[in-house]
Amino acid sequence: MTKQHVVVIFPHPDDESFGASGTIAEFRSKGVPVTYLCGTRGEMGRNMGNPPFANRETLAQFRKKELADAAKELDIEVEYLGYRDKTLEFESREQVAKHLKRRISELGATTVITHYPGYAVHPDHDALGAAVVEAVRLMDSDQRPEILMHAITNNHEEDLGEPHIVHDITPYWDKKLAAIKAHLSQADGMMSLIKGQDQHAEQLERLKTERFYKYKFS
Ligand SMILES: [Zn+2]
Repeated sequence: MTKQHVVVIFPHPDDESFGASGTIAEFRSKGVPVTYLCGTRGEMGRNMGNPPFANRETLAQFRKKELADAAKELDIEVEYLGYRDKTLEFESREQVAKHLKRRISELGATTVITHYPGYAVHPDHDALGAAVVEAVRLMDSDQRPEILMHAITNNHEEDLGEPHIVHDITPYWDKKLAAIKAHLSQADGMMSLIKGQDQHAEQLERLKTERFYKYKFS
């Protein structure tokens, strides 16, 4: 049997915690190694903490520390791909894809988790998701990892149908919460959501399920 290795590829420190940390925690509980290839340092983020503790110059350092803390909670490795926040859509998709293909191959990824291009709300999310699909397409078909894609837009189920994987992550909720909390500068909205549990029960329930579409090469 091939040794499993899960490679998570999103553009920002915190995408992994909000989008896939329950799933990540489950893989780790089974002893499967997980590496997060984080596209940027999130230096252009609008949130600076509440009350603000970062500024434009210091935000990248805070976010790096926050991701290190979240990675400790989730017991995963982190590598930065070195792109600039909010500019991924302007990078050559081919070059990013080649870069990703190299790391995906070197790590021996059997599963790649990324955003669903076109349904991921933020241009960085869409661009990196598209580059991941291209990267895997460039690989020999018998070497390709499966691609699990996280869609975010409100209308995605209308267009795409039910996700292939609907994963109840309740057993890993504490891990997910701890990982999200590590992203102090970004987690304020989430924290008020949790404190106001009664009014937001429905939204909170949604976070306890992680949904993914599997990419199919034709
Ligand atoms: Zn993001």
